Amino acid sequence: MSRITRDEIIALDHRFLWHPYTPMDRHLREGPPLVIERARGSRLFDVDGREYIDGNSSWWTALLGHNHPRLVSALNEQSQRMCHVALAGITHEPAARLAAELCRVAPPGLCRVFFSDNGSTALELAVKMSLQYWFQNGRPERRRFLALGEAFHGETMGVTALGGVDVFRRPFEGATMECLRVSPWSTSAEDFSRLAALFEQHGDTLAACVVEPMVQGAGGMRVYGANVLSELRRLTQDHDVLLVADEVFTGYGRTGPMWACEHAGIVPDLMCVAKGFTGGMLPMAATLCSERLFDGFRGADERAFFYGHTYCGHALGAAVAREVLAVYRDERILERAAPKAARLAAAIDGMAQLPGVTQPRALGMVGAVTLQGPNGYLQRAGWLVSEQARQRGVYLRPLGNVVYLAPALNIDDAELELLLSAVHESIAAVAEQS
Ligand SMILES: *Cc1c(COP(=O)(O)O)cnc(C)c1O
Repeated sequence: MSRITRDEIIALDHRFLWHPYTPMDRHLREGPPLVIERARGSRLFDVDGREYIDGNSSWWTALLGHNHPRLVSALNEQSQRMCHVALAGITHEPAARLAAELCRVAPPGLCRVFFSDNGSTALELAVKMSLQYWFQNGRPERRRFLALGEAFHGETMGVTALGGVDVFRRPFEGATMECLRVSPWSTSAEDFSRLAALFEQHGDTLAACVVEPMVQGAGGMRVYGANVLSELRRLTQDHDVLLVADEVFTGYGRTGPMWACEHAGIVPDLMCVAKGFTGGMLPMAATLCSERLFDGFRGADERAFFYGHTYCGHALGAAVAREVLAVYRDERILERAAPKAARLAAAIDGMAQLPGVTQPRALGMVGAVTLQGPNGYLQRAGWLVSEQARQRGVYLRPLGNVVYLAPALNIDDAELELLLSAVHESIAAVAEQS
């Protein structure tokens, strides 16, 4: 394979690529981007041989580190046999066994699996399933959704309606479905009675309530109480509204237990998984649902869920996703992450002692602080910290002025210490300059 130089790669990037979530003028104007050549475990290696600890497991996906040898083998083996066949009425071992294995580890009662391509489609599916369920089961007036303030559920138009991050949704205002919103961050008695009143008033027109359980990711790593989740489960049950848990970020042990819903001991009606689902190897997602939901689509042919994506349940992704579950079990990933999570939480508290740093929060293997100043996704303070971190061999990506860490769950202890001290120093350096 012929190789091109770092500068040639950047020249092609600058000439032809349009980056996700990136103001392109800034990208073209600012210093050269990282040019990554390979990745292994918690490390990224650039074309010049420099190493970086991956502080966000590559957009929250590589929960077992990059290129876990067992996942690479599973991918190689499956690719020799079959890469993809359409999963519409025909079947294959990787998809069937993965579905069974997922149901075994899912909260009890979630017993059917619909595969799709990514987090957004997993949520889009949940939205459409909810609407069609009510449409053909006697409650067609249930057309609206309830979501949390600063929610993020992905990019398709359906889930854009659920999203609460202003800069992401503003261009599409007026063109999206109707969605009510609550922001129960302080869990005072008044907040709870406001929530109850909202259900009293609108409960019978709601199709579903959609939440990121325990931690809202893209909205700024906002951690909220398990009592909010329990209350939402109680209210949705009382008003017969479906509850959708978006575990795309929080699932697979990111917050401690396998599913963030476990913090509140609740079982949603639908649950969406992606990101860590394939350990960051292939885009693939799953939407799990209860028997009640599934039964609502049985009977006459026209009651079927006429929905699908070309690559639903593709064999390569399914083989890797099965191996991910096997590695979680064999390497006791959740148990072994617990002391790492405690270290992360302590380090976040330490960062909060620095001048200009507020709101320390940590849950499982995610921790964040907010840098003082105006809030919002377009703020730059976090980027100054990321620049400092890069000079110290750490890759971070902030959310405006929120600096967060979401490393691999199996990051080794020495690497975790390097990561934590580099981030502490980076924040201190920025605090000193300002
Ligand atoms: C990332 C994310 C999504 C969207 O997933 P994609 O794979 O990027 O489409 C949805 N919900 C949550 C909570 C996420 O963090």
